Amino acid sequence: MALSNSQYDHLIRMYEKRQLDNENRLRRRFEEVYAEVPQIKMLDNHISELSLSQARKMLSGDETALSSLKKELQEIIQHKQMLLTAAGFAPDYLELHYTCPDCKDTGYIDNKKCHCFKKAIIDLLYTQSNLQEILEKENFNTCSLEYYSNNHIDPLTGRSSLTAMKTALGTCHNFVDTFSEEFHNILLYGDTGVGKTFLSHCIAKELIEQSFSVIYFTASQLFDIFAKNRFEKDPDAQMDYEHIYDCDLLIIDDLGTEFTNSFSASQLFVCLNERILRRKSTIISTNLDLDELKNLYSERVFSRITSAYTVLRLTGDDIRIQKKLMNKF
Ligand SMILES: [Zn+2]
Repeated sequence: MALSNSQYDHLIRMYEKRQLDNENRLRRRFEEVYAEVPQIKMLDNHISELSLSQARKMLSGDETALSSLKKELQEIIQHKQMLLTAAGFAPDYLELHYTCPDCKDTGYIDNKKCHCFKKAIIDLLYTQSNLQEILEKENFNTCSLEYYSNNHIDPLTGRSSLTAMKTALGTCHNFVDTFSEEFHNILLYGDTGVGKTFLSHCIAKELIEQSFSVIYFTASQLFDIFAKNRFEKDPDAQMDYEHIYDCDLLIIDDLGTEFTNSFSASQLFVCLNERILRRKSTIISTNLDLDELKNLYSERVFSRITSAYTVLRLTGDDIRIQKKLMNKF
């Protein structure tokens, strides 16, 4: 998927609006400060007059007058700053506050797209259409442990479904808390309908709110893109590759439900490997067990996952079924 012209225009207008909003906020802060500390307004007027005469002196080449003016200006600015903080305002209260200080809300740094612009593109192309509504319902605040039982014991690990879910929740919280400093990946596997997708949604919501770029694909959507790119040489799919390799978090949901062949298995390897090389995090959820994963996608995909991912196994009675049953009463 590439940006259409109208989508690009939409983003540019969004940045223009952001600049304007921040300028308006600054204007209102000035009005507020002037009303509360009129002396600051007088000093500001004085600063403008002095700056004007400084410019005149500069033009006339009057060096001595210039340096004394500079000194006077500095003193007034310091005085103004002192009055501002004494009145309880933050020292930068009368400066322009950027939404993204890195690109100063232009979207570009040295003619290259800023991280905030890349995130805006990904939000527009994927997140807004795919996720927004789901994330309102499925997040850490709505996550409940009441569906998990102490009596349902996983024969493979000997742990109860409740213990497994608590461990998984802890890992997911830690994943979010350390996301900007540490590189982690998660594989969620186990029974159907026990909250694997739910957990990946919880993480997605937190990270989107922290301004990270997140792409969520079901495995079939992802493999469709691989196939389109290979067989149709679709220019939109080319664009997708860059987003898929480069977004801060890629979530691949329901791996194993798509049609798999040796081509898609090798594409999956390239994708997972590329993201590990770029130290970009990935979360995979699957109903397959580890042996099935190895058989379906090859040994090298399997070893990449087991060496670079935290593997979490969730078990239990099907939560979706339980929820449906509960709704009937
Ligand atoms: Zn930026």
